[in-house]
Amino acid sequence: MPDVFADLVGQDEAVVELRRAAAAAAAVLRAGVADRAPALVAAGPASGDESARTAGDAAPGAVDPSTGMTHAWIFTGPPGSGRSVAARAFAAALQCRHGTGCGECPGCHTTMGGTHADVRMVVPEGLSIGVGEMRALVLRAASTPSGGRWQVVIIEDADRLTEAAGNALLKAIEEPPPRTVFLLCAPSTHPDDISVTIRSRCRVVPLRQPPAAAVAEVLVRRDGIAPDVAQWAAAAAQGHVGRARRLARDPEARKRREAVLAVPRRLTGVGAAFDAASALIEAAEAEAAASVTEADTAERAALETALGAGGTGRGAAGAMRGAAGQLKELEKRQKSRATRAQRDALDRALVDLAGFYRDALTMALRAPVAPVHTDTAALAGAGAQKWDAEGALRRLEAVLACRAAIEANVKPRIAVEAMMLALWKG
Ligand SMILES: [Zn+2]
Repeated sequence: MPDVFADLVGQDEAVVELRRAAAAAAAVLRAGVADRAPALVAAGPASGDESARTAGDAAPGAVDPSTGMTHAWIFTGPPGSGRSVAARAFAAALQCRHGTGCGECPGCHTTMGGTHADVRMVVPEGLSIGVGEMRALVLRAASTPSGGRWQVVIIEDADRLTEAAGNALLKAIEEPPPRTVFLLCAPSTHPDDISVTIRSRCRVVPLRQPPAAAVAEVLVRRDGIAPDVAQWAAAAAQGHVGRARRLARDPEARKRREAVLAVPRRLTGVGAAFDAASALIEAAEAEAAASVTEADTAERAALETALGAGGTGRGAAGAMRGAAGQLKELEKRQKSRATRAQRDALDRALVDLAGFYRDALTMALRAPVAPVHTDTAALAGAGAQKWDAEGALRRLEAVLACRAAIEANVKPRIAVEAMMLALWKG
């Protein structure tokens, strides 16, 4: 039986650090000191800003911070590198009966399955995590762990915290309850992603983009995918483990990718460029709709049942007035989630497209690297001949500029149309 860190692909250094910390945390519990005094190492600037910024966020203290336990962590890395996988595995190791993340005990099992009473996972469904959600979470995190070990709060996409929510979280991290551990996930520690004050109080675990070979290995071992399919999917997904698995297993995902990679040869004129833009946007909308519709319907039905829709008699009118407000609130949340899903789908398409032009560029430069998309390598080679390195680079930059524009809130259709025109003109 593999332990809880087995799925953390290509992150050997991070795993060593997390194992040490989990062992240190178990030692804290065994010594029974956690209730009397916060024995955890604070990685905060209280002990000196310089030390917080250098050498693995060392903070002076009785415990060596490279091996000791810390109450607040940030897992950083590119999408798909396994930030939330790492956070969940670490949470399991903290709840593990043996303190190792054995993968077999109830603590490990329930944490990995998402049902441990002392592990809360915040997954933002919309574009941001609001202050109300964060306050409720911080409050619950302060309670005594029912399992007698740690209260663990995992915040996925901590870069989507609103400022007010960030402040609520900061307060909790500044004065942490002795048995509470916060695990944040963010793309980077850039101030755009995570506030400087929060970052200064957290220990940072940087994750790398896992090499394609490591991703392929896990697809074969864990998911039973044929080695040649796994290798192709790992390369095509550019280090994104979840995406690689989807490509290997889901024919719809493969079809969508093929449609995206057909874009370059379809750009034969202005009209074709606009058509390609529409097709890309509509495909992203369809993919997003498929992923959220089911959840939307179920949520609405659950809320209506809870509100006693269709009820009559005294008080029903007043109740329905309140209910309208709640339904409106739900619709707002669902709309925000749909927007997020559309952006994520579009971004995946743009990453695929960028991979194609990157292949053309490396071929024009005769760089000795394997192509991202082996199945369109011939087409990329033809592009390399026609455009030269400079032309391939300009096109790659057009795709990256489109991603940046959407990230900066430019309307997706406008950004994609501008990109398609740039790709056509070169
Ligand atoms: Zn265990």
